[in-house]
Amino acid sequence: MRSRNSSRQTILEGTYDVCIIGGGATGMGCALDAQLRGYSTVLLDAGDFVSRTSAASTKLVHGGVRYLQQAVADFDYGQYAMVRKALHERIHMLRCAPFLAHPLELLVPCFSLWELVYFTIGMKTYDWIAGSASLFPSRMLSKAESLRRMPSLRSDKLSGTVSYADGQFDDARFGLTLAQTFAQQGGQLINYAKAVGFGKDTKGKLDVLEVEDQFSQERFQIRAKVFVNCTGPFADHIRLLANPSVAERLRLSKGVHLLLPLEALQSKSALLIPKTEDGRVIFAIPWLGRLLVGTTDDEANLSDEMVVTPEEVKFLLKYVNQYLKVNLTPNDVLSAYAGMRPLVKSKDAVNTKKLIRDHEVEVDEVSGLISVLGGKWTTYRAMAEDGINHAQRALGGQQVACKTLDFLLTGAQGFTPDFWKQLAQNYRLSPETAQHLAEKFGTDSPKVLELAAQDPQLLQPLTDGGFVIRAEVVYAIREEMAQTIEDILLRRVGVQFHSWREAAQAAPVVGQLLAQELAWSDAQTKQAIDAYLGSIQHLLQSAGIG
Ligand SMILES: Cc1cc2nc3c(=O)[nH]c(=O)nc-3n(C[C@H](O)[C@H](O)[C@H](O)COP(=O)(O)OP(=O)(O)OC[C@H]3O[C@@H](n4cnc5c(N)ncnc54)[C@H](O)[C@@H]3O)c2cc1C
Repeated sequence: MRSRNSSRQTILEGTYDVCIIGGGATGMGCALDAQLRGYSTVLLDAGDFVSRTSAASTKLVHGGVRYLQQAVADFDYGQYAMVRKALHERIHMLRCAPFLAHPLELLVPCFSLWELVYFTIGMKTYDWIAGSASLFPSRMLSKAESLRRMPSLRSDKLSGTVSYADGQFDDARFGLTLAQTFAQQGGQLINYAKAVGFGKDTKGKLDVLEVEDQFSQERFQIRAKVFVNCTGPFADHIRLLANPSVAERLRLSKGVHLLLPLEALQSKSALLIPKTEDGRVIFAIPWLGRLLVGTTDDEANLSDEMVVTPEEVKFLLKYVNQYLKVNLTPNDVLSAYAGMRPLVKSKDAVNTKKLIRDHEVEVDEVSGLISVLGGKWTTYRAMAEDGINHAQRALGGQQVACKTLDFLLTGAQGFTPDFWKQLAQNYRLSPETAQHLAEKFGTDSPKVLELAAQDPQLLQPLTDGGFVIRAEVVYAIREEMAQTIEDILLRRVGVQFHSWREAAQAAPVVGQLLAQELAWSDAQTKQAIDAYLGSIQHLLQSAGIG
């Protein structure tokens, strides 16, 4: 990726076939698809890339057993079709970036023979729908085998578990890898650039996007033939900017997750808690050295602050403590995050839990704006294919087939699960650092380590005893357009997901490296570090953590 300043200059000077507004899963997928079909494509995001919903998911690459349950219970073909599509897209995600996404075993605890039979039939149906895209077959496990796999499971009334397969991934890095791949294919992109208005041609069709630089507040324009709205929860706002007479289409739902010590689970498999009092499912998943627990599903508004509240912490801990032999309290929460689902409205669904997670592509006949609404991370590629098929029709000319299905993302070429051993040996890294780099960058890891070859100081860890090294920070600034401490600690290197307190410890070093790379003044650096520390304090306080 080029530097932000140089990207901005190039974007200003060009005219593009396709302009993608929004750089989450949907936008990144659309941008790569359009660029690979040969359209000159530009993408902009109001904040950092992948900074909203797409970094706040449960990090599952899945069809969704809950949606299958709903499909059966409500005889809902729409839910079934969505599960089927997602199960087929699941295999694509695991193949195109195997360093970021891999299969995961999940266990469903059962407390009677009836439940064992019920969930076995359900999971066999899930396997059957996946067909050739199945990861491994589901099966019923005895109580003894279940406890061998997950010793922390409360055993008092347990009859056994049902084991089934889905995938898991690193959502933030997946989005950034899509961004890097798009840039390598010649695409242009810029973060912290907000779409604030449109210009129209004599027929009333969009031809110019007014953009506000979120650092300098300067306005500039992007010229393109087609505009694709991929702004997730903000999509109605962009639709209304293009055509003030359209009706709103989205309903938003908040979901939160907690990160807890992995020792609470003592397992490589994940736990699915199939039913809470209010009809949700909760996952407890081993993820990058932590136990990831979520999620909730509550109606939300665009203006709601996405912080985790003490009630949400209490709700999730209650179920973890009920199913696992632990007694976790809010003080055990190491980190947490909240996100907003952009769900497409349905007349029938009374609450957001019942809304189908499928996507919809809308073409506004008046302005020409194409909006890709709703969907899931798992189906980002199929959504992009659909969105760019529409863009292509609007552009006219020769219709080119979508090329993303078997396209490997950068870092995937030549990757094997033991690639980290090569890294550890060649660069004399600790196993933890080598594994961490391989999980974040795949076979692109040497590009990060080359920076340390030029400046050995960059091999130092970010925090005492931590496994993230300083070279990653410099790489994030030079090659991944990181502009703030949060861009780096949360999405690029993952320390803030791992631990809020560890992230606070790392902030001064990251601030200094940003200052060196972006020529910040001392006052600017201090302000950035203080602001970041303040934001972590705010997250802790909002969640009611001491
Ligand atoms: C709690 C939760 C758990 C989930 N778990 C899973 C899961 O396990 N698996 C799965 O497959 N899916 C999951 N999902 C769904 C999935 O995360 C979302 O469907 C997906 O991330 C939506 O991506 P998006 O790109 O449409 O939206 P976003 O990621 O929100 O991206 C929209 C982007 O548009 C930008 N933007 C907004 N306004 C403007 C503007 N004016 N100008 C420029 N840019 C703008 C924003 O900054 C943002 O980056 C989950 C969702 C939630 C909330």
